[in-house]
Amino acid sequence: MASPELATQSGGYDVELFVDPPDYELICSICQGVLRCPVRTACHHIFCKKCILQWLKRQETCPCCRKPVNHNLIFIIFKLKKSIGRLKIKCKNEICGCTDTFPLSEQFSHSLCCQFELIQCPNQGCRAQLLRRDLDTHTRLCEHWRQPCRMGCGTILSHSTEAQHNCYQQLKQEYEARQRNHRAIATALQRKMKRMQSTMAHVKRQIGLICESLDVIDGLQEAEESSGCSSGSSSVVL
Ligand SMILES: [Zn+2]
Ligand SMILES: [Zn+2]
Ligand SMILES: [Zn+2]
Ligand SMILES: [Zn+2]
Ligand SMILES: [Zn+2]
Repeated sequence: MASPELATQSGGYDVELFVDPPDYELICSICQGVLRCPVRTACHHIFCKKCILQWLKRQETCPCCRKPVNHNLIFIIFKLKKSIGRLKIKCKNEICGCTDTFPLSEQFSHSLCCQFELIQCPNQGCRAQLLRRDLDTHTRLCEHWRQPCRMGCGTILSHSTEAQHNCYQQLKQEYEARQRNHRAIATALQRKMKRMQSTMAHVKRQIGLICESLDVIDGLQEAEESSGCSSGSSSVVL
């Protein structure tokens, strides 16, 4: 049995790839594979396009009937190409465990999601090759894994730095420290205000006392003045 890769190189699709054995008319007589991009020569024989072009480089006669082949009279049979595309095939990764079957035309799209496809680790710098289904497990351990912090602080983290990184905790601590500082300032201001208030009250009391004593002096003067008038004396001795 030829491997699918070998069959590709020689032209047609590997017969073993098909779920049901393909019809005899669908087999290319040059590569013995299923016709890939089938073309018809003027002598009505059908081959893979690649196979017949390679054949004609060596000799210009049909490999089936030995008639001369004109390069300009070879045509792709699109209808046949389409119906071959509808044939069901097995996944080329069947040997690794994939049991999916699908039309030949969907081979490429299946390879993009096949869990048994051999892929390269997508992390830059990592050379690991693995089955797609093992990617999650590998990513959890891959030394080349890099991702920006999910909290949005902008730090690029690897698996080794991710465990210690806690920008949220740091921010919280900084915020709490600032809050403590603000509270201390507020308390100091309150104390200052109380001191000022008591100083003001003291000053008010002093002014009150001064005003009271001024009133007493005024009263005395008035009393003296009125008594001086009646006695006839005009001089006041303080
Ligand atoms: Zn062929
Ligand atoms: Zn022929
Ligand atoms: Zn598959
Ligand atoms: Zn990796
Ligand atoms: Zn962060």
